[in-house]
Amino acid sequence: MRIDVVSIFPEYLAPLELSLIGKARQDGLLDLKVHDLRSFTTDRHRTVDDTPYGGGAGMVMKPEPWAEALAAVGGDAAARPVLIVPSPAGERFTQAMAYELAEAPQLVFACGRYEGIDERVLEWAAGHFDVRPVSLGDYVLNGGEVAVLAMVEAVGRLLPGVVGNPESLVEESHSDGLLEYPVYTKPSSWRGRDIPEVLLSGNHAKIARFRRDEQLRRTADRRPDLIERLAPESLDKADRALLDELGYDVADGGPRRRAEA
Ligand code: SAM
Repeated sequence: MRIDVVSIFPEYLAPLELSLIGKARQDGLLDLKVHDLRSFTTDRHRTVDDTPYGGGAGMVMKPEPWAEALAAVGGDAAARPVLIVPSPAGERFTQAMAYELAEAPQLVFACGRYEGIDERVLEWAAGHFDVRPVSLGDYVLNGGEVAVLAMVEAVGRLLPGVVGNPESLVEESHSDGLLEYPVYTKPSSWRGRDIPEVLLSGNHAKIARFRRDEQLRRTADRRPDLIERLAPESLDKADRALLDELGYDVADGGPRRRAEA
């Protein structure tokens, strides 16, 4: 996969040289380049922002350098690279989106700063890219770089060969609509706390059931919204019994929390 990131702070993306993503780049699994938006300006001051039309606080990123930068990194326009524009006003980034983006041959990330990028850049770019404004969550960051670090890591680890054991991607939080079960390692007893005994039983079916129950319990506790999104056909008899115990009715539309008596 090819990834291009455009930012006025290229140094901010230095962590992408580390750990699994850094290794994936070294191994040629990921061709990732960071570009300085200011190198696409033409004035002496390398200006990338100006005051907003209509007034108001803050500055807006100018369209000209963005168009130059995106035209330069756009790669194969016929393949319509995905242009991800981090924005708190975008579609929410999810694991499902990470899987979808991991299939694309090229991703381009446009890191906004100030009050964001002149809207006409996105309109123009739609002629060359599949443009996707994407939000990391319902809060406001100073710039798109932190969001790009998160998204590149989430997408990059799904590329074939990046994570040593691909099995570890299968049982993670959000891979099946639930949060992951609690995990433990040696020693089996630590500061008076023993690991759940079933994990030492060697009984794979029992361990799988224990883990599934823990997933359901943890998700009901921390993210009840995810429980209500579970497809009823994904729930077996034991799941349904536990959900009943946790206060959910499982109907055709999926689990619904029972009203408090
Ligand atoms: N005025 C913008 C608004 O209210 O939608 C916020 C601009 S923010 C200060 C500057 C930049 O940070 C944005 O252009 C975007 O690139 C990035 N950013 C801020 N919050 C973000 C979030 N939740 N997800 C993704 N990017 C974000």
